[in-house]
Amino acid sequence: MSNLSEDIRTLGTELGFSMIGFAKAEPLIQEGVQLQDWLVRKYNGTMNWLEKNEKERTNPFLIMPNAKSVIVCAINYHHPETSKCHTIGKISKYAWAEDYHTVIKGKLKELWNLIASRKPDANGFIEVDSGPVMEKAWAQRAGIGWQGKHSILLNQEYGSWFFLGIIITDIELQYNSPVENMCGTCMLCIDACPTNAIVAPYVLNASNCISYFTIEYRGEVDKEVSNKFDNWIFGCDICQNVCPWNQKKAKISNAPEFMPREYSNGVEFEKILSMNEAEFNLLFNNSSIKRRKLEGLQENVKNVYHKKYEKRNL
Ligand code: SF4
Ligand code: SF4
Repeated sequence: MSNLSEDIRTLGTELGFSMIGFAKAEPLIQEGVQLQDWLVRKYNGTMNWLEKNEKERTNPFLIMPNAKSVIVCAINYHHPETSKCHTIGKISKYAWAEDYHTVIKGKLKELWNLIASRKPDANGFIEVDSGPVMEKAWAQRAGIGWQGKHSILLNQEYGSWFFLGIIITDIELQYNSPVENMCGTCMLCIDACPTNAIVAPYVLNASNCISYFTIEYRGEVDKEVSNKFDNWIFGCDICQNVCPWNQKKAKISNAPEFMPREYSNGVEFEKILSMNEAEFNLLFNNSSIKRRKLEGLQENVKNVYHKKYEKRNL
């Protein structure tokens, strides 16, 4: 008799996923308490949508009443930097290629179709970083990795450079065990964060994080804060770059969708400031950066380039 869990793992690997794990569907009680505390402290800043669907986030039965399992799929996107030029706007590695939402959702749909062809009565709910699902919590439970002190998930082979996709299903599977936390006494990410956004091990005040300011936040950023952005104009990889699990150990991705592009190692400030809509769409075609829109990206550039920008406009 074939083992469905193993078959799903094989099918997922054939579709390009680097890791697949299974967790039993159950309420995320501890995670729910932590989420509530995090929201009370307003660490979500202006990301008000995180306050919505709080109950659904921590209870898979509110998404699928008969849920039995959570399938967690991860895909490696790591490519090393090839330039350390400091006159350019830096872009977070996760946005170097195709928009991961689209890529992973497509792969999860294919995987689900294969599963459904064997289990025609089964139900599956697919989610990629946009619905009321705590991906990192499920990934920990499914043995994909541990949450580092910077709050991002880490794995011994892939470091933290991987995307997550989730399928909640009413099929029973063989569940993985959580992996050991390997951060030990290391504090490198906390010490390296220029805006002190990691307020305690494992607790991120997102409203102080450069990624938040350059991706989610709309409005003026206080210059005292933006002076610390170190030329990051879309996301920030500082805490991940210093992590020993990324520095030496992380495998390079072989996913064609995540091959670096022309802009991956940064874009000249002036090039972005003088860009028109058509040039923006061409350069960042199908990438997550498109979500920020040209105007937003130009604001980000002005935040880190303001000294020269102000001079230019005198
Ligand atoms: S992404 Fe940057 S700003 Fe945010 S916690 Fe990491 S180092 Fe700090
Ligand atoms: S830098 Fe150190 S403490 Fe931070 S996530 Fe990596 S191993 Fe953990």
